[in-house]
Amino acid sequence: MDCIFCAIAAGEVGAELVAESEAAVAFRDREATAPTHVLVIPRKHIASVNEMSRQAPHLATDLLELCAEVARVEGIVESGYRVVTNVGDDAGQSVYHVHFHVLGGRKLREMG
Ligand code: AMP
Repeated sequence: MDCIFCAIAAGEVGAELVAESEAAVAFRDREATAPTHVLVIPRKHIASVNEMSRQAPHLATDLLELCAEVARVEGIVESGYRVVTNVGDDAGQSVYHVHFHVLGGRKLREMG
């Protein structure tokens, strides 16, 4: 399977790692839209929240724990941050390996 995020998790493709855990890896988005823009992914390949909720719902906890760790490392726990995951076409999902965007370090616009 040809998956860029699997390759990053395996260390085969370079990325700036921010934090990691047994189940997940956090690295900077290469097209950051905020001072902190980090992607949190499971080491295991799962396409999106749809599949995660069916095949490995416990992974959601692992991913959220690492999102909170990223916020601590980045120093944005107090100022606030956003965790976003895009699912499918209408949401603009472009990589089909589930990932949570952790965004912060500036005032974020309302979502819509
Ligand atoms: P999404 O559009 O929600 O699927 O988000 C995918 C994100 O992955 C985008 O924000 C891209 O900038 C980011 N991205 C894609 N390839 C890489 C890569 N090799 N290293 C870091 N970020 C990447």
